[in-house]
Amino acid sequence: MFQRRLTSNMKAKMYPELVERDGDVCFYCAMPFMPEIEAMKRTFDHLNNDWDDNRIENLVLAHFECNNKKRNDLEMQMIAVDKLKKNLASVPYSETLRERENNQATDELTEGELNRIINKITDTYLKERLPDSDNDTFIPFTDTMNSITYLVQQDTKGRGGQVAVRRAIDVRCCSIGEFQILREDGKRIIRRRKTNG
Ligand SMILES: [Zn+2]
Repeated sequence: MFQRRLTSNMKAKMYPELVERDGDVCFYCAMPFMPEIEAMKRTFDHLNNDWDDNRIENLVLAHFECNNKKRNDLEMQMIAVDKLKKNLASVPYSETLRERENNQATDELTEGELNRIINKITDTYLKERLPDSDNDTFIPFTDTMNSITYLVQQDTKGRGGQVAVRRAIDVRCCSIGEFQILREDGKRIIRRRKTNG
């Protein structure tokens, strides 16, 4: 593995992730940084004391003084080893961030975009199961609603509820719609509307 000392470029890149993970405080004493005081300046501490091991799991933010003190402090060394183990055991931090970005993208779906997705999935679902050449086939209403809701949620990371899906089905089953909701043996079903003649 190619290794090199932490550059200011690398520090700038990793700093937001470290703050996100641990907060913008010293890992060892939990106090904030004060750049104007030498001892309380922010440094990047290598948990395992290997200055070439720049994996983000091996780094914490620490005061200049706490970082120095750690060299000869057994208790701090043990705390550092524990923290490294904990970091390595958790999901790689960059993956958590990526996941969050993906979630933000679906959170940012407007109501209109969400409705378009619901309408498209509802249309496809009904038309595939109830082809227009066949007036006798039917599908259960509740399972249809749940299945479409499931497909919408798969597509939008959990956005889109049953109420909106139900509305989409109702619209397609209105008195001039292609489909209709009927009752069969006490259970609601959906089938293609029978045309006169
Ligand atoms: Zn400190």
